[in-house]
Amino acid sequence: MPRAQGHSSGGQAQAKNGIVVDMRGLNGIDAVQSEHVVVGAGARWSEVLRATLSHGLTPPVLTDYLELSVGGTLSVGGIGGTSHRSGLQTDNVAELEIVTEEDELRTCSRTRDSDLFDAVLGGRGRHGTIIRATLRLIPAKTCTRRYKLYYRELSPLLADQCLLVEDGRFDHIEGHARFADSGEWIYAMVLATHFDPGEEPDDAALLGRLGHESAEIDDMGCFDFLNQMEDDEAYLRSTGAWEQPHPWLDLMLPGSAAEDFIVETMRKLVLDDIGESGLVLFYPFHTRVITTPRVRVPAEPRAFLFSLLRTAPHDEVVVSRLVESNRELRQRALSLGGTVYLEHAESP
Ligand SMILES: Cc1cc2nc3c(=O)[nH]c(=O)nc-3n(C[C@H](O)[C@H](O)[C@H](O)COP(=O)(O)OP(=O)(O)OC[C@H]3O[C@@H](n4cnc5c(N)ncnc54)[C@H](O)[C@@H]3O)c2cc1C
Repeated sequence: MPRAQGHSSGGQAQAKNGIVVDMRGLNGIDAVQSEHVVVGAGARWSEVLRATLSHGLTPPVLTDYLELSVGGTLSVGGIGGTSHRSGLQTDNVAELEIVTEEDELRTCSRTRDSDLFDAVLGGRGRHGTIIRATLRLIPAKTCTRRYKLYYRELSPLLADQCLLVEDGRFDHIEGHARFADSGEWIYAMVLATHFDPGEEPDDAALLGRLGHESAEIDDMGCFDFLNQMEDDEAYLRSTGAWEQPHPWLDLMLPGSAAEDFIVETMRKLVLDDIGESGLVLFYPFHTRVITTPRVRVPAEPRAFLFSLLRTAPHDEVVVSRLVESNRELRQRALSLGGTVYLEHAESP
């Protein structure tokens, strides 16, 4: 079983009675070409992005956290703030070099040995080991304007997300909720537009017809925006929360059932269910942009990623309770036509 950064939180990079292969050394990055770059599967996305941005290029989709490995996210999908436009990271791979279960080194793509290509992307390391990947690149801008929009209620936020996915006015769309000290949920949408100096975005046009209560707007370098989780990681490491158990749940919900499911689930959550540093995420996307066969998406035109990023104390009883709660939510989502993203090791 290949293992890279080991950030999966459900045992996906472990092999019972088997051998785990550390992929981190295979982290080379070849010369960046105008439309692609070839990288070792152990390279981290932060390294890939640094290399490509210096040529004015970027992978079309990046995860929120850039210290994940290329092989690790290509084994699950890789969703991020631009997925509403460009699908998953697995949808933006041109070619792979794989070591198969029979120990053969093979090169595959959508047109060459496509069964192997389709089995490995989103294949959770079970159908071969990715050695190198040819990643598609698109032109990048140098600056980013970030808009943090705050909402009192969840429903208007979800409605605005749907509007934005339809009209595509922002490059980057995310939504999240966390508990405030008062015990109330804080709902926020993080949006971004990338630009070059002299082409500053028109805030009034971008924020038109949205139902937020307040907004914070700031400009930063593109890399700093995409690498926002660096500060969060440093903070969570300093408090110890980074090393606590993280019984996460990641679901893809069909558009027709998403709002009721999310509202109902969040209504029942209390602080102990999610933890002080816990976060709930919701990302809308068109299912047609996800073309990776192994990543199952709901059979509706629009879906939402809904993630409970729980932080639990080092207490087996509490962790078991949260894992059981995840199991129930997973079952309910499946019965509504949802799918599970980041399946855990024991999942079929
Ligand atoms: C803080 C944090 C933020 C995250 N943010 C996002 C996000 O924004 N979007 C998102 O989609 N996911 C996100 N994830 C989940 C993450 O994408 C997956 O857990 C990913 O698999 C972790 O990559 P890794 O390098 O740590 O892989 P590991 O945990 O080491 O391995 C994960 C899986 O990939 C397989 N694998 C690893 N390398 C290879 C290889 N070379 N060939 C074949 N299989 C391989 C392993 O066998 C295992 O099944 C996040 C996780 C964390 C902890």
